[in-house]
Amino acid sequence: MDVLTSPAQMHAWRTKVTGSVGLIPTMGYLHDGHLSLVRASRQRDTATVASIFVNPTQFGPGEDFERYPRSEADDLRLLEEAGVAAVYLPSAAAMYPDRYQTYVEVEEVTRRLEGEHRPGHFRGVTTVVLKLFNAVQPGRAYFGRKDAQQLRVIRRMAEDLDLAVEVVPCPIVREADGLAMSSRNIYLTQAERAAAPVIFRRLRVAGAAWAAGERRAEALREIVLRGLASEPLATVEYVSLADDVTLEEREGIVAGPALLSVVVRFGRTRLLDNLELV
Ligand code: AMP
Repeated sequence: MDVLTSPAQMHAWRTKVTGSVGLIPTMGYLHDGHLSLVRASRQRDTATVASIFVNPTQFGPGEDFERYPRSEADDLRLLEEAGVAAVYLPSAAAMYPDRYQTYVEVEEVTRRLEGEHRPGHFRGVTTVVLKLFNAVQPGRAYFGRKDAQQLRVIRRMAEDLDLAVEVVPCPIVREADGLAMSSRNIYLTQAERAAAPVIFRRLRVAGAAWAAGERRAEALREIVLRGLASEPLATVEYVSLADDVTLEEREGIVAGPALLSVVVRFGRTRLLDNLELV
């Protein structure tokens, strides 16, 4: 497994590879959710490249950039075991040298949900993902459905900018008790960790109501909200029922596929989860 630490090194590596290349962009501190994306690529691509980069431009002031968990040695071992051909591990200085001033902005679909609660977040995400695409030049790039809005934003960017990259969505990987795997779960205290599965439990109750024919947007949001309100350690940031593609909030009777998404804070930890209602 090769480790490349600058765009120039990554480019040079890429020119020597023939066949299809799959890219898995990550911020490291890897868990089985990340590794499921690696496995998806290993099944389809000749060579799999994983990137590890905690991207400063997607964190807002007062967010957790400085304390974001890092474990480079473990990550490299896991990726090697998973059969990754190369790891792209650029430094912040290599990605954003002095005088850096170019950013990618996707409009409408970034304004809601996470975009509304984390101003500037998606501008950082799209910029870094386009830079990763340019350095690695993958035929496919794999993204988790856990970050549902991110997936839609990247798809939009790929389509709008005529990128020759197939964006492949992958299912959410969960702990046995239903909590979506996340590098940030490490921040949870024992009591918070024990309470956190309430998120997916409530999403599932709403999902069951949807399956039984409930189509009132307000009622579906309320099922999730009510359940979360009964958990004293949980503070709800938002519960959204939105159009599956545009992410416009749905009101009244929901006709087509929808995305039910939530952000809940446990102490200082911000947890995201979602359920696609189809
Ligand atoms: P991150 O390291 O959090 O930036 O995530 C890197 C990629 O892994 C993104 O495409 C995420 O959506 C994906 N990912 C993170 N957690 C999960 C999970 N529990 N299941 C599936 N994919 C995930």
